Formats: sequence, C-alpha cells, structure tokens
Amino acid sequence: MTDCIFCKIAERKLPAKILYEDNTAVAFEDIAPQAPVHVLVIPKKHISTALDIKEEDNALVGHLYQVANRIAKDKGIAERGFRLVMNCNPESGQAVYHIHLHVLGGRRMHWPPG
Ligand code: 5GP
Ligand code: ZN
Repeated sequence: MTDCIFCKIAERKLPAKILYEDNTAVAFEDIAPQAPVHVLVIPKKHISTALDIKEEDNALVGHLYQVANRIAKDKGIAERGFRLVMNCNPESGQAVYHIHLHVLGGRRMHWPPG
C-alpha cells in the first residue's frame, strides 16, 4: 500500500533498524521504545487491522509469533518474560494501520495495561 509507513519500511523505502527479515515478515526496532526491548514484527503483506486477518492469513500471522519468539530469544528476554501486543482500532491506541506485533520486554510489565 503506497501511503503506509510499515509497507515502506518493509520495502526499504523508509529507514528502520531491521533485526530480522524473511520472505513474509520483517522485525525492526520501534522508533519510540516503551521498554528496554521494543521490537515490531510485521507481515510484508499489508493488512490494516487484526479484524482484517482472513483465514488465508492464519499461517502468516502464526509466523509473526515465530519471529517474535526468535527476537525474544535473541534479545535475551525469553526466559524472563515479555509481552506481545497487537492493538486494534482507535480505543486500543492503534496508530499505524498495518498490523504489527509489539515485542516488549527487559522490564517488569504492568497489568492491567494502561
Ligand atoms: P500502534 O500504536 O499502532 O500499536 O503502534 C505503532 C508503533 O509504531 C508505535 O510504538 C510507534 O512508536 C511505532 N512507529 C511509528 N512510526 C514509526 C516509524 O516510522 N518507524 C518505527 N521504527 N516505528 C514507528
Ligand atoms: Zn502497509
């Protein structure tokens, strides 16, 4: 999608600190980290929100979790614990309408989230 910043990051038309890439997914550092580890995992395919995930995307979305696990292990937070978040629509705080898993860790997470 032409006006989507995460599509542009996936296409390397916008800079980002990319940590991982394969045929279907990209992981990069969040520009405004909310924890010592804050990485975003996105599909290369443009999907606007969690509500737009179709049956045909199930394997792709499952793969995002595999990439998130890999990031957590690489960052050394897997055993301590980490949080995976996908915001959906305005009241969740979703700001970028290309689905992304936030991988957050390196500090104690609060519950319930704000
Ligand atoms: P959301 O609120 O949509 O769940 O999360 C969007 C996330 O994307 C935020 O944590 C925000 O800091 C991050 N973000 C927004 N624009 C950019 C950007 O241009 N580059 C990177 N690396 N992260 C971004
Ligand atoms: Zn996009």
